[in-house]
Amino acid sequence: MGDELLLGATTDTNAAWLGRWLAARGLPVVRRWTVPDQEAAIGAAVSAALDQARLVVVTGGLGPTPDDRTRDAVAALLGRPLAEDPTVLEAIARRFRDRGIDELPEPNRRVAQVPHSARLLANPHGTAPGLALEVPGAGPERRGGGVVLLPGVPREMTAIVEGGLPELLADWFAGERPPIHTRTLHTTGIPESLLAHRLADHLPGAGPIQVAFLPDRRGVDLRLTATGLDADEARCGFDEVEARLAPVLEPWRFQAEGGDLVEAVSEALLARDLRLAAAESCTGGLLAQRMTSRPGSSRLFLGGVVAYANEAKVELLGVDSALLERHGAVSEEVAKAMARGVCRRFGAEVGVSLTGVAGPGGGSVEKPVGTVCYAVVRGGSVQVRRERFPGDREEVRDRSTQAALALILRVLEGRSESSEVATDGGP
Ligand code: AMP
Ligand code: MG
Repeated sequence: MGDELLLGATTDTNAAWLGRWLAARGLPVVRRWTVPDQEAAIGAAVSAALDQARLVVVTGGLGPTPDDRTRDAVAALLGRPLAEDPTVLEAIARRFRDRGIDELPEPNRRVAQVPHSARLLANPHGTAPGLALEVPGAGPERRGGGVVLLPGVPREMTAIVEGGLPELLADWFAGERPPIHTRTLHTTGIPESLLAHRLADHLPGAGPIQVAFLPDRRGVDLRLTATGLDADEARCGFDEVEARLAPVLEPWRFQAEGGDLVEAVSEALLARDLRLAAAESCTGGLLAQRMTSRPGSSRLFLGGVVAYANEAKVELLGVDSALLERHGAVSEEVAKAMARGVCRRFGAEVGVSLTGVAGPGGGSVEKPVGTVCYAVVRGGSVQVRRERFPGDREEVRDRSTQAALALILRVLEGRSESSEVATDGGP
């Protein structure tokens, strides 16, 4: 809900987060509404939503300011008169006292107005609790459900959902089987069309389990969806489909709960008690940035060097200047020397390097924009790749970082010999 969403001033991260949270629990979102801060518009949207779905989640417009109209709109729509709730009021007053304000400002009293027979969902980070209202006739077949009102502030919204919604849903939809289950398989380094082609003979036909391809710049996820199965049936079905796809996916597959390749690389390093160092030219530290984005990365990432100028490659990484002259900075030879150099420099067991032409300028016939060489050293052996990545500067840098991370994983898992490399175009 809210003008700021319609004006584009606020990005609707709540809807994306809720979509993921609900889908992961077998409750796919079927429709979304974004409406202005007007009572009539809010009422109309919630009313329409209740015709189409048994569970309606509303975020925003529960605060103390006059533009916060969700509470009034939904109370009016459902015919649940508002009344001040003394426990909510006291909790709000306490938050203000804790901040040294003894007199509760009048507008904030509004937040304690609760629709008749609403269930309160605790808000650990703010004054407005979530409000859950059962609606017996909700949904397309009038099987019943309800409306959940949540504050717009993302931190408050997510805390309320995680703290209170599982129990609420269990009560409202007791004994009902969630309509869908999902499992996601992650790949990187192969374009969607090629992956689909390779998998064509292995995908399930018509039946309860379907596979969707979800590509983005860093890879292609395969989302397996089971419809009309209980949790055990879905797990068995997924295992079966996965077993059929696995041999084809193997060269490009990685395991990561959150879907980030860095997760898989970090875990592979940890499991082998190995430490990584990075030498980056065209990516300017992006790989180091991603490696250090996870808590606990100090156990597996020693550091990096951004060696952008040739002199920096020579002085900081010990790259032979003759190599640079003979092959150029963007070459397999220099990439290998950078990876070896950074290993020495940091005393790391694994070294990675990237050197390339990110564009838009600097390309040549031999080394067009998007050409990137990257290498991974482990112990005495080195793996090097030369690829041409599509896209603008930012995209080339992001795609090549991802490709280098994938090569680290393959080297660690001992899959680097058998792997294929997608040239002229990532996923
Ligand atoms: P509201 O509860 O509508 O007054 O929203 C309070 C604040 O939460 C807004 O000023 C936004 O910064 C943020 N917010 C509201 N709705 C959303 C949303 N759908 N996604 C992300 N942030 C939001
Ligand atoms: Mg507001």
